[in-house]
Amino acid sequence: MFNRLVLIAAVAGAFVIAVYAAADKPAAAPAEKPLPEMKFNDVKELAPGVFFRYSSISATDKTIPFGGSNHTWVVFKDYVVVVDANFPKEAGDVVAAIKKTTNKPIRYVLDTHHHGDHAYGNSVWSKAGAQIVASKNAARLLKTNGPKQWEDASKDREDLRKTELKQADVVFEDKYVLDDGTQRVEFLQFGHSHTAGDAVAYLPHHKILCTGDACVNGSFNYMGHSNSGSWVKCLEGMQKLNVELICPGHGKVARKDLLETQKRYFVDLRAEVKKGIDAKKSLEEITIGLDLPWYKEWTGVAAKDNKDNVKHVYDELTGKIDHDRLGKTPAPLDWRAPADGVAVVRRD
Ligand SMILES: [Zn+2]
Repeated sequence: MFNRLVLIAAVAGAFVIAVYAAADKPAAAPAEKPLPEMKFNDVKELAPGVFFRYSSISATDKTIPFGGSNHTWVVFKDYVVVVDANFPKEAGDVVAAIKKTTNKPIRYVLDTHHHGDHAYGNSVWSKAGAQIVASKNAARLLKTNGPKQWEDASKDREDLRKTELKQADVVFEDKYVLDDGTQRVEFLQFGHSHTAGDAVAYLPHHKILCTGDACVNGSFNYMGHSNSGSWVKCLEGMQKLNVELICPGHGKVARKDLLETQKRYFVDLRAEVKKGIDAKKSLEEITIGLDLPWYKEWTGVAAKDNKDNVKHVYDELTGKIDHDRLGKTPAPLDWRAPADGVAVVRRD
């Protein structure tokens, strides 16, 4: 018996050594998934049954029309799960794109948050037979602030004038899981980041994370409804997930390090603005002096040119923004701070 155990131990030991030896050789290291080369509106299958649509956007080229949010959809055994609803016109385009990849019915659509380019197409998806899923805060913000924001946005958008705002059907607190044994999608709420209601979609089998606007790839961060301090913590939470690919709300698919890059923007922005405030500099002086060369390298835009973001962080760090009023408590989102006033500018 003892001898047999020794033999087993020796064989197991040899196996461990063999595995370690194999791991030493670069050839044995698992190959990184290649990043897809995509043009605007292209659809690529990133993993079996997981499709990504890259929507048009540019922070620098005004000739490129804004195509709303990116989309990921996952084909389950009997149905399709979609990340983000986009505007109604684009939602129609995406429904058509999905039908080219599968004839299964679209059953769930996640509004990653309540902004127009992620939620206003809800009625289109609903008519296609889908249930709209949102975090509790996203659903509440769409309900309390949606109608007024929709009305404002519809002045510039014919598709909004021709359709109506549809609220969420399925609302979850922290986590909502869809799993049929073939595919698994986890909708996760990490806290107040881009908005108080952001949810991401995690595909653990494929190590893919669809982040909505909680993480974008390029100069596409709108911070007007954000809590930048909490946003950093949310990104740190996402970094703990076993992920290889990030499907951002806007911009190209990237590797996991996009989460670190996105986080660095808020960490550096907060540090630089704080330094300026401590040195008793004005917002203008801080903005002009903001120098983050790596950010321009990443996005093509100088950090100081995103003036609204600098102002938002300045207002946060000087106590002019009550984050609870931006989402945690049922208060209107479009509020103006007292004293010199913080206009929370809407994007949608
Ligand atoms: Zn947004």
